[in-house]
Amino acid sequence: MAENLRIAIIGAGMGGLATALSLAKAGHKNITIYETAPGLGFVGAGIQLAPNMARILDRLDCWKQIAAEAVQCADTSIREGSSDKELGHVTLEYVEKTYGYPHMVGHRASLAGAMYDGCLKESGIKFELGSVITEAEFGAKPSFKLTPLKSPDEERRVECDILLACDGVKSQTRVSLLQTLGETADVKDSGQAAYRIMLTREQMQHDPELIALLDADSVTRWIGEKKHIIAYPIHNKQIYNISTAQPDVNFAGAPNSTYTTKGSKTAMMDVYGDFCPMIHRMLDLVPDGEVVEWKLRVHEPLSTWVLDSTALVGDACHPTLPHLAQGAAQAIEDGAVLGVVLDPKRIADCEPATINKALKIYEKVRKERAEALVELAAENGRSMHLGSGKAKEERDKIFAALKSGKGPVPDKWADADVQRMIYGVDITAEAENLCKEEGFVAKL
Ligand SMILES: Cc1cc2nc3c(=O)[nH]c(=O)nc-3n(C[C@H](O)[C@H](O)[C@H](O)COP(=O)(O)OP(=O)(O)OC[C@H]3O[C@@H](n4cnc5c(N)ncnc54)[C@H](O)[C@@H]3O)c2cc1C
Repeated sequence: MAENLRIAIIGAGMGGLATALSLAKAGHKNITIYETAPGLGFVGAGIQLAPNMARILDRLDCWKQIAAEAVQCADTSIREGSSDKELGHVTLEYVEKTYGYPHMVGHRASLAGAMYDGCLKESGIKFELGSVITEAEFGAKPSFKLTPLKSPDEERRVECDILLACDGVKSQTRVSLLQTLGETADVKDSGQAAYRIMLTREQMQHDPELIALLDADSVTRWIGEKKHIIAYPIHNKQIYNISTAQPDVNFAGAPNSTYTTKGSKTAMMDVYGDFCPMIHRMLDLVPDGEVVEWKLRVHEPLSTWVLDSTALVGDACHPTLPHLAQGAAQAIEDGAVLGVVLDPKRIADCEPATINKALKIYEKVRKERAEALVELAAENGRSMHLGSGKAKEERDKIFAALKSGKGPVPDKWADADVQRMIYGVDITAEAENLCKEEGFVAKL
């Protein structure tokens, strides 16, 4: 019976949780999520919750819980970092009317926590936390080595019928899969790093300009040469979430595995030294010793995401710069599509060839779209980070036209045409349609 096929999911991040939940909702009863972390504390910063993500989470019965704590964005303001002068302003109220869900911002803990709670309600999903997965092997019955964190000498090989690798940007499964194909996954140096900061209402309350930012329903982006800051209130406006992007100097020579480090407050203040005094006051609220810097990692597009009965999911196959705020949304879209193509009724004969066909349809629905958005995010970074010169003059003319109500928004995530392309696509329906077109329908 296809619903009893052994499905192994590596990684309980955004992609892994969404994939498990959507497979369980499709009727699968034997799903195991293997995760290195011994507990799912879900720390981390804020995250934009775009309508394409919300639509899927609503179908998976976890959107209401997330939305209850999230902040609905009324507008976005794009400003010059050095002067705080507004370059562009876009209202976002139309988003809900047009796409059925508002554009919201929230806490990662609440997004992942709601998906985790959803998984716990499904008897078909089991968690094996504290399990390090390595040495994946492919074929009709994929397998991998599981090393328990607590008792490394009890390592064992695990076999499954379907392997879904949601193991993030540093995916070991991606490396093994490409090695098996005789290919490499070249890490592309983004040259960028990010500070991720959360300020509390208490920290900001003595500064009227800063508290006004926390009380607004806005996503604000301050831009400058080779850098920007994006910020918004989360957690019922009790926390101001700030994420930056600047040239990477600290990780340039670091080994591949390093991607987060304790940053220096002096270095952070220097990088944004040419931004306006309000931003200095804001960054100065970060306590000494609590500056954390992240390397922003991407890699070249892969030739394939699928080998036999194995597929890569989320950042494992399409890591992105955060400049379009779509990384997690795209991992969740992957999960939704896997729920459609691997519906037990479609793969009722349980044949490896049928499973492979399902995974190939997943790749067909998702690869081109995800990779286009990865490129668009990189392009948005280039455009927001322009220094003086012709390209910047052109961009600023487009901003000026926008002020008088005409033309596109240079900050792509807020542009109506880009939003149509991202939010206007119901990826679950696209997957259903492609299955029909390819004659991949229920086998009863
Ligand atoms: C600064 C910044 C801001 C961002 N902002 C947004 C935003 O606003 N909106 C948005 O949609 N996206 C955003 N993103 C992107 C988003 O965070 C990622 O795209 C998303 O988390 C990817 O999910 P994932 O499940 O693929 O990987 P992850 O969330 O990284 O999960 C991978 C999981 O696999 C586990 N794992 C790894 N290796 C193993 C192993 N060998 N064995 C067992 N377990 C393993 C890890 O412990 C982890 O739990 C942002 C990213 C950054 C860096």
